[in-house]
Amino acid sequence: MKHVVIVGGGITGLSAAFSLQNQIEDKNLPIRVTLIEAENRLGGKIRTEYHDDFVIERGPDSYLKRKKAMTDLIERLGLDYDLVNNHAGQAYILHGTNLYPMPEGAVMGVPTEISPFLASGLFSLKGKARAGLDLVLPKSRTKGDQSVGAFFKRRLGDEVVENLIEPLLSGVYAGNIDKISLESTFPQFQDIESQYRSLIMGMKQTKPKKSEKSSKGAFLTLKKGLSSLVKALEDSLAGRVELKIGTTVEGLNKSDSGYALHLSDGAQIEADEVVMTVPARKAAKFFNDDIKELIGEVPATSVATIAMAFPESAIPGSFDGTGFVISKKSPFTITACTWTNLKWPHTTPAGHVLLRCYVGREHDQAIVDESDETILSKTLADLQKIMKIEDKPEFYYVTRWKKAMPQYLVGHLERKKQLHERMEKHYPGIQITGASLDGIGLPDCVVAGENAADKVIKTLTEKAI
Ligand code: FAD
Repeated sequence: MKHVVIVGGGITGLSAAFSLQNQIEDKNLPIRVTLIEAENRLGGKIRTEYHDDFVIERGPDSYLKRKKAMTDLIERLGLDYDLVNNHAGQAYILHGTNLYPMPEGAVMGVPTEISPFLASGLFSLKGKARAGLDLVLPKSRTKGDQSVGAFFKRRLGDEVVENLIEPLLSGVYAGNIDKISLESTFPQFQDIESQYRSLIMGMKQTKPKKSEKSSKGAFLTLKKGLSSLVKALEDSLAGRVELKIGTTVEGLNKSDSGYALHLSDGAQIEADEVVMTVPARKAAKFFNDDIKELIGEVPATSVATIAMAFPESAIPGSFDGTGFVISKKSPFTITACTWTNLKWPHTTPAGHVLLRCYVGREHDQAIVDESDETILSKTLADLQKIMKIEDKPEFYYVTRWKKAMPQYLVGHLERKKQLHERMEKHYPGIQITGASLDGIGLPDCVVAGENAADKVIKTLTEKAI
């Protein structure tokens, strides 16, 4: 029997274990699998809270539908009856102290329809004219990677980037777009420039035609919360894979058979293959300086979410839409707010409103270390100015995610390639994967886990021949 150890029971580790064990059983291979998770629960950043009839996501709340790996996994687990689409309402950008609707036709902030863009109060005339230059500017001569900020500023000008693109992208990466790698986050934009020259024209050509556009939103989630996926994975793996929950891997060294892992319960286990899915900064300590140097270069931002429930009567006026993101220059602590009961009606019982705000961004992470009460009072002060909410919530949950949003800096793909080469050389049989390296979205993590499983099967079957 060969032994594979997966370190970390977030979505990457769970997907790896599920795919690996399914293949082992399908092919009747003499391989056993152990998954080790430090916390007393599986799921990592996936964490659903059930409060009366509310379904509250403390980490991720959904995933991009067009990335199929999550839906495939959900279908394989028989949970697809529970999938639900977001309500595709208007999204807003808060600039200064005003909420502006996202201009119709904007795709990740890139305008593809001229009239709504020209009519938007979000940009000055000068800003609009500068964005229009995209139609005539030549292609970039830049070879290799560049920052997301530099790319968009060159094509569309500073104002469109600051007022629209930066707040939208920061909602996903909580990072500094002037440092984040275009190649590893949005390679499609680079491709569009090289194919169509103009970003606006290229996006217009490639976006789905109106008739093909679905009236449903672009995101999916599970009605009983994303933790129901974790529970289904745990139930499926129980008895097939050894699950060591509440056990930390504290050390790792080479041994005669492969690797020895030292666990917090004092045990030492031997592994032929290891799949390391813990965040890069935690994985770094297991390896030599050559590896540390590379994975230590993936910084991560701290953020906190605050979910708040109000009676409907506490919200003055009528808000119709999915929520808003906030431009960096606006004088607020919160960086985004989802009108969860409108975007995801299944989460909230009738007569209530559920809001989820984010705090923490690359240049303002200290807020995450403040007390729950301080985070609440700063959030409420912002909401009072933006939405005129005067009341305190019926209940709230603050969730801190320390160094949790990986930042793929310019050159990330090149560093990843070097990492793989050095791992092959110094630590054959160990794979490092997960959100810190291979994509932060849930579907990307599923793909990363499944790819790691495929590689383990390939290596072990080749060794056996
Ligand atoms: P993790 O979930 O971090 O799992 C790693 C696991 O390793 C953890 O359980 C940890 O306890 C364990 N571990 C660490 N050290 C050890 C050790 N020494 N021994 C054993 N175990 C160890 N993505 C989306 O697609 N949609 C969203 O809406 C979305 N929203 C997000 C909102 C927030 C607030 C955050 C923080 C992230 C969000 N993401 C979203 C990103 C997504 O949630 C993550 O990228 C993904 O869950 C990471 O999964 P993972 O398995 O790679 O890592």
